[in-house]
Amino acid sequence: MNSPDLPDSTAGGDAAVICSAKGCRAAAVWVLAWNNPKLHTPDRRKTWLACEEHREHLSQFLGVRGFLKDVVTLQEWEASTAGK
Ligand SMILES: [Zn+2]
Repeated sequence: MNSPDLPDSTAGGDAAVICSAKGCRAAAVWVLAWNNPKLHTPDRRKTWLACEEHREHLSQFLGVRGFLKDVVTLQEWEASTAGK
């Protein structure tokens, strides 16, 4: 598997990004981008982080509510937001 080291680009020396699932302290690998149309404007994106184990669970949670917009790896997400 190809897994280069992630550059530590987060500000302030934050520790590793952790999965958003309740009680989970695993390192996040996935970013779930979502939007609740009742609360957010359409271009707004909230994000949840997920480890390998909880990606399915969390994306299903958002999916059944119609909130889920995108699921990308943390690397892709950081690459896509880095240029801003
Ligand atoms: Zn997890």
